[in-house]
Amino acid sequence: MQSWFSLELDGRPYRVEKDDTHLTLAQFLVQLDEIYADFSFGESWRGGCPVIVGQLEKDAPRFRLNDATLLLMPQLAGRQVWTPQGISNSDPNHPVNIALSSGIFESGSKRNGSLAAALFEGFYRPDLRRRGQMNDQFDSLVTRSLNVPSVRDAAARVFASVEQVRHEAAQKAEKSGKENQVWTGRKDIHEDRFSKRLFQLKEYAELNYVDGSKRRFYRPKTLVDLMRLKREYPEAQLIAGGTGLAQDSGKVEWPNLISVEGVDELNEIITDQDYWEIGSAVSLTRIAETIGRECPEFAKLMRRFGSRPVRNRATLGGYLATAWSQGQLSPLLIALNARVMLLSNDGERNAPVSQFFDKNGGTILQPGEIVRSVVIPRSTDSLLDSRGMTARICDAYSTGQRRNLVDPFVTGAFALELREKVVAKAWIAYSGLGKTPVRIKEAEEFLAGKTWNEDTMHAVLPVLHKSAGALLKAASEEEDDEEAALYRKQLVITLFQKFYYQHPDPDSVKPKNLSASNEIGRLEQPFFDAITPLT
Ligand SMILES: Cc1cc2nc3c(=O)[nH]c(=O)nc-3n(C[C@H](O)[C@H](O)[C@H](O)COP(=O)(O)OP(=O)(O)OC[C@H]3O[C@@H](n4cnc5c(N)ncnc54)[C@H](O)[C@@H]3O)c2cc1C
Repeated sequence: MQSWFSLELDGRPYRVEKDDTHLTLAQFLVQLDEIYADFSFGESWRGGCPVIVGQLEKDAPRFRLNDATLLLMPQLAGRQVWTPQGISNSDPNHPVNIALSSGIFESGSKRNGSLAAALFEGFYRPDLRRRGQMNDQFDSLVTRSLNVPSVRDAAARVFASVEQVRHEAAQKAEKSGKENQVWTGRKDIHEDRFSKRLFQLKEYAELNYVDGSKRRFYRPKTLVDLMRLKREYPEAQLIAGGTGLAQDSGKVEWPNLISVEGVDELNEIITDQDYWEIGSAVSLTRIAETIGRECPEFAKLMRRFGSRPVRNRATLGGYLATAWSQGQLSPLLIALNARVMLLSNDGERNAPVSQFFDKNGGTILQPGEIVRSVVIPRSTDSLLDSRGMTARICDAYSTGQRRNLVDPFVTGAFALELREKVVAKAWIAYSGLGKTPVRIKEAEEFLAGKTWNEDTMHAVLPVLHKSAGALLKAASEEEDDEEAALYRKQLVITLFQKFYYQHPDPDSVKPKNLSASNEIGRLEQPFFDAITPLT
């Protein structure tokens, strides 16, 4: 065991010695220097304290926006951290600092810092190709008293500067046949002081850290070592992204933490011609980046999920094991017909996502068992053809008090496989109606064999209404909140109606644009184009 680890903080190497395994980065910074005093005010559900973490994701170096209140210090061993203070002091002429110097954002220094970190991540993101996509960086910020047009202007300026750099790098790389490295972010096209350091990152070593109070933090590199540790320390707490756990830091005691983040096998995304197999330690952002083009409903839902810092860290395994009753992703995983692969020292087993949750709000995970991966079947034209289907329509909808960082009321995800205009198979799933996400089988069975048209949509609504009513009645017997139950019941219907009106035509899987009436929705490049999937 070692009693220290190192990281890079604002461009300087830093050695952490004997510090508590439970210490968050925000707490650490506040203790370190008064220039980081703002970090004492962060609350994750209000946007937290954004910082940039430089990390290697398989062989791709990436800057990721994170929330310092949701990061435990040992998770940062071997990583680079840039705070908003570090970004602004290290290079005043960085395009982000220039863009921010001329705008009036109507926010305090802390929000401006958040904005700087968000723009910084966007500047280095290889997957941002259109100016409007830059808006994805601010989803959780702009709902909280920022001058939206000013933010958009700053984002446009930052995007214009990176577009130029990328264009020139792609032209150069074309000559040497390495153009793909530019587009996948495997080449340092910026060659500035931040990116140079990022591209020097080495593969993480395994970590066996013990703090001053003899609490341990393990970060094994292989699945074999992870399962060995699970056997040796049956009571140890597994930690993945840490977004769920870090909220309890200071309230709960974990004598032994085992991180899955460094386990190679759990960080893989395998793309087979029939399916994707996604390792349980892959972040939600990386999943959206990999499958989002072919599965736009996933990318779309992600823009309603938490905030960019949360999605950058939360993993699929951590999400499933948390089993939050209002979790937004489970209905979509059900509609996509996904299966959860489980692993323990006794062997492997698997279950459809709909059967992974137990009726008491937990999961079927046994002590000593972990989520290894999730298998999502693909639905390419040739696969549909081989199953005798002509189309698959799938979409997901979520409702809440605001777009981001709220408890969602109800989330619905729907999928139909069609032969010509006739429904062959349907998946209808919701969360927010009780302790677990549910499939409404009665409605699925009702739809099978019917022509997909407005009459069918209207005919299935009473079936949905009745099933949702029964589920909510069971849930509200405990919660005793009749009005909320009535509202959720209405949402079950409304979300399905919206699905029909966006996908009335089986020949076109692209959703129809329904009109949006609020101000933000009308902007030419909306911040929140939840209705239009990211392509
Ligand atoms: C600010 C904020 C906003 C959020 N917004 C949303 C939202 O909009 N919609 C939504 O659905 N959710 C939301 N969440 C919840 C979020 O989805 C979960 O916190 C997250 O998915 C947990 O994933 P993680 O990788 O961070 O897990 P961790 O926090 O690392 O772990 C959570 C639990 O899972 C266990 N675990 C982790 N990996 C495995 C594994 N491979 N096998 C078995 N057990 C494992 C851990 O032991 C722990 O008990 C939000 C959370 C926060 C903090």
